[in-house]
Amino acid sequence: MNIESKVMNTIKKYKLCNKKEKILVALSGGKDSAVVAYLLKKFSYNIEAIYIDLRIGRYSENCLKEVKKLCGELQIKLHVYDMKKEMNRTIKHFWKTVGKKHRLNNCAICGVFKKWILNKEARKFKADKIATGHNLDDEAQTFLMNIFKGSPKLSANSGPIIKNVSDRKFIPRIKPLFYVFEEDIRKYILEKKLPFVEGKCPYVRDSYRVEVREFLNSLSGKDKENIIRNFEQLQNKMAKIKDDKMQYCRICGEPSRKNICKKCELMRI
Ligand code: SF4
Ligand code: ZN
Repeated sequence: MNIESKVMNTIKKYKLCNKKEKILVALSGGKDSAVVAYLLKKFSYNIEAIYIDLRIGRYSENCLKEVKKLCGELQIKLHVYDMKKEMNRTIKHFWKTVGKKHRLNNCAICGVFKKWILNKEARKFKADKIATGHNLDDEAQTFLMNIFKGSPKLSANSGPIIKNVSDRKFIPRIKPLFYVFEEDIRKYILEKKLPFVEGKCPYVRDSYRVEVREFLNSLSGKDKENIIRNFEQLQNKMAKIKDDKMQYCRICGEPSRKNICKKCELMRI
C-alpha cells in the first residue's frame, strides 16, 4: 500500500480527525512533520502549523527557514513559538540546569517542554487536534524501550491518537504516520521535493534510543510491523489499566496527572 493510502486508512480507521476540525501540525523542520502537513493539506483538512523555536543556534535557524518555505509553498498559516521570548530562556538553559539536577538527557527535557507548549498553544489557536510526525519506526522504538525498561504500561497512553475524553483542556494528539516506515517517508519527500532539513539535531542526547534504533534498523520491515502488532494487542489489554485521570497543575493550570505538571516540576530548581 502506498503512503497516501496508508495515511488515509489510518485517519479513517482510528477517526483521527474530520474536515470540520482545525488541526495544528507541529512542524520541526524535519521530513516527517513536513509530510504530515503536505498530506493533510492534500486531503483538504483544515490545518495550521506551529514551529517551536528552541533557539539552539544554527540548527534552529535552518529548521525555521525550511518550515517557512514549506508553509509558503503549501499556503499554510504558520505560528512560531519563540522560547526565548515566551519563557525568557532557551532550551539550552534547561538542558544545563534541569538536566544536571534531574539526570535527564536533552531529548527528554525537550519532550516535556514541547508537549506543554503544544497543548497550550493549540488551545490558544482553538485547534481541535495536534498532529505530529511520529512514524512506525519511532513508535516501535518507544514501545521496545518501554518493554526493556520493564514498563510496558508506559505505552498504554500511546497509539495513532492520544486523547483524554474527560478533559477538555487536553488537546488530542494524532499521528497520521503511525503505520508508515521512516524509509518510505524519506522516499516520498524526495519525490515531492518538499523543503526539509536533512540530518539530525546536533544536540540529540539519548544514547539508549540510539541503541534501540540501531537494533531496529537491523530488522526487516515485517519484524517492525510485528512489533507494532504486538503493541496493538497489548494495548487492548492495557486499556483497562490506562490512567486517564487528569487534574490541573497548581502552578500553570495545564492538565497534569499530578498536582504539579512535569514542566513546572522541572522548572522548580
Ligand atoms: Fe531536542 Fe533531542 Fe530534538 Fe535535539 S533531537 S531538538 S535535543 S528532542
Ligand atoms: Zn505546570
